[in-house]
Amino acid sequence: MTGSYMLRGGVSLVSSFLKETLNYMFPGCCAICGRLADASDRFSQYEDFCEKLYGHPSGLHICGKCLSSLAPYESDSRWFLCLSNPYKDDPFPGLALYMPLAYEGVTKRAMPMIKFGKRREIAGLFGALLGTFMKNDSICADLIVSVPLSEARMKERGFNQAYEMAVPAAAILGIPYAGDVLYRERNTSRQTELKGNNARIANVSGAFKVSEEWDLTGLTVIVMDDVVTTGFTLHEAATALYEAGAGKVLCAAFAGNRQVKNAEPY
Ligand SMILES: [Zn+2]
Repeated sequence: MTGSYMLRGGVSLVSSFLKETLNYMFPGCCAICGRLADASDRFSQYEDFCEKLYGHPSGLHICGKCLSSLAPYESDSRWFLCLSNPYKDDPFPGLALYMPLAYEGVTKRAMPMIKFGKRREIAGLFGALLGTFMKNDSICADLIVSVPLSEARMKERGFNQAYEMAVPAAAILGIPYAGDVLYRERNTSRQTELKGNNARIANVSGAFKVSEEWDLTGLTVIVMDDVVTTGFTLHEAATALYEAGAGKVLCAAFAGNRQVKNAEPY
């Protein structure tokens, strides 16, 4: 037991040493594909932004190839119905989702790196991109919130990727962000592990609540998540915001796989 622990510790020490050596030898390795990223591909404006927001540069390198692959939909094709599979008696059937990128290519490669590789800095970059797209599309609101992570997953990952995206997005949009509005009333299973509409609706039903300290009456609120699949999680978060008095709720996610387009922009 101790031996295998030592071995694992040793391997992790070697791999972190190798990583640091590689970083020293190739300071501009792309965080997504690992290829050498030309120094000119570093985005100086983003570094300035990180300095202001976090008090330090991002330390992130993305090569030109990965960066140019992050191509958003055309401006008028970024609006969708929140639910991929709308159901009868939905109290908010027209709930809109702003989603600028398809979940494919570089985005599909990078998202698991954020969630399972703990690459928090990539989430920050994606949030800044999301905020930039939204700003260019003149999206306004009174408040931005993010989908909260369960305590267990927070412990496992150490951060909430939705929060990591929402904070820079809110800073770019100039809209206040509040992390203590929504909270999880109970834990849920991963939506991707469940089959069928009914199981997914039941899984998230009543999962979120708004803190009693917040009065959202009449406010326009944007609720953000990283990736959207069926949309049930965002829909449930939006429901909690409406129940707490929000005047209008808009869902936003960086990427997802969607066919059902919203006829009307927000
Ligand atoms: Zn790359």
